[in-house]
Amino acid sequence: MIEITKTNIEKAINKARQTKPFVKVIEFRRYSVTNKITGANYTVKFTKIDDKKFAECDCKATVICYHIGASIGAHIVLAEQMQTATA
Ligand SMILES: [Zn+2]
Repeated sequence: MIEITKTNIEKAINKARQTKPFVKVIEFRRYSVTNKITGANYTVKFTKIDDKKFAECDCKATVICYHIGASIGAHIVLAEQMQTATA
């Protein structure tokens, strides 16, 4: 589990915006993230302990990866995709 900070999540969200992986909600705080190009699929989990937010992903990254960024910003990314689709 890696603690989410303002800095590391911003980076992860920016990467997710470029990669635009497909995010599916499995259940509250659990997301399935799929890379549309490679088809690679990972599960992201969020945990909250004493007001601190933690995340883990089953990919090989040991940092807050873009799968986590994509999950936390899922609605933002989706909104952008929808904008692109209607433009
Ligand atoms: Zn990951």
